[in-house]
Amino acid sequence: MFGGSSNHWGGWCRELDKIDFQKKQNSDLFEWPINKKDLDPFLVKARDILDLRFITEKKKLNKNLNQLTWDWSSTRFGKKYRNFFQEREHVDLYLNANMQNFVFDKKVIGLNVKNSGGSNYFFVSKIYALATGGIENSRLLLYSNILAKYQFIKNVDSLGRYWMEHPHINVGGAFIDRQAFFRSSHNSHPTNQSYAFISPTGNYMSNSKLNCCLRFRLNEKEKEPQSISESTKRWIKESMEDLACLDSDFTLKIAGREFKCYSSIKAVFEQQPIYTNRIELDPTSKDFFGVPKIKLYWKQSLDLKETIIEVLKETGNFFKERDIGRLYIDNWLLEKSEPFPEHGELAGYHHMGGTRMSKDRNLGVVDKNLSLFDHNNIFVYLSMAYA
Ligand SMILES: Cc1cc2nc3c(=O)[nH]c(=O)nc-3n(C[C@H](O)[C@H](O)[C@H](O)COP(=O)(O)OP(=O)(O)OC[C@H]3O[C@@H](n4cnc5c(N)ncnc54)[C@H](O)[C@@H]3O)c2cc1C
Repeated sequence: MFGGSSNHWGGWCRELDKIDFQKKQNSDLFEWPINKKDLDPFLVKARDILDLRFITEKKKLNKNLNQLTWDWSSTRFGKKYRNFFQEREHVDLYLNANMQNFVFDKKVIGLNVKNSGGSNYFFVSKIYALATGGIENSRLLLYSNILAKYQFIKNVDSLGRYWMEHPHINVGGAFIDRQAFFRSSHNSHPTNQSYAFISPTGNYMSNSKLNCCLRFRLNEKEKEPQSISESTKRWIKESMEDLACLDSDFTLKIAGREFKCYSSIKAVFEQQPIYTNRIELDPTSKDFFGVPKIKLYWKQSLDLKETIIEVLKETGNFFKERDIGRLYIDNWLLEKSEPFPEHGELAGYHHMGGTRMSKDRNLGVVDKNLSLFDHNNIFVYLSMAYA
């Protein structure tokens, strides 16, 4: 599909922070071979490609918490760039061209491609860029490696490994008094004024905690009358009764404004690289073109709970100190052994890993320039390297 996931993506955009590039948990696995300065020169161009209008900000709330802003891109790459590529004299664009595998004989000599009518093509190039998405990249390399009797990619122990996602989980809610806190939360996008975002500061995260972002979504009865279900309304009423017992002064303050002052909280966070999270080829099942399908193994470590609870507690204390609101944490999160809930949004459609970038060929598949360690003329894009 020309334009790939950008044809239906959400368009949430924010530049990475310096801390995202720093080594964590003293683990060589938890480190990229690049830093923010390596990417900074490309920022202006990237904003232009994505048609971003606002500069994202970070405001310090206290020594442990920041408030973030996001921007939203409505760019559909297929729509925006199709003519651009078709008009280039030195670009040939083939649609309905399904790559099957690299052909390897001591070195890569080309790649096999099939169209949906079953015709075969052989493509030869000096340089190859593999950009088929967060699962397909690993699948095509794994398959090519089997056909090449494991001589194509030698570090077989890294290929397909450390696959990950951005877990997105509902973790609680908040009763808010000062709507101004959210209203003035400089969420530049006019259609997303009811969101606010809080994340830990670099110092607070230090070496041990994982990065995460708490996403507050303020419910507004007038704007979205259908968005609050009857069960949520019931739940809000019961929680207000609990709150009245725990903190009657605050309850009186917000009494009568129940729907305007309730916010759901979703935590979106990073995962540590886990060796057993992986993509494997399934020898029992093939696709239309004869390429093996995959088995995906992905588990979220229960250790993630500690980070979320700490950041939620820190935010709760901040709300209380400033009398902004009162926050509650869902029970499943507080029970150490209780698994992550399987309802709702489990992940963010952000596929990463499988072909991770590393300075050490034993821990990754591509180097800091996204080139395969074993082939300096094959580059693997995009987010699947940043795991
Ligand atoms: C519903 C949804 C919402 C998202 N929202 C956001 C968001 O708000 N913010 C954000 O930052 N990210 C978001 N993402 C993630 C983001 O869209 C992806 O990380 C990004 O588009 C990945 O780009 P890519 O080029 O690596 O892969 P893709 O966009 O997946 O492109 C891969 C392309 O390769 C083609 N292809 C696959 N296999 C083959 C083959 N064998 N031969 C030939 N072609 C092949 C596919 O058809 C596709 O066109 C979202 C994703 C989804 C699905």
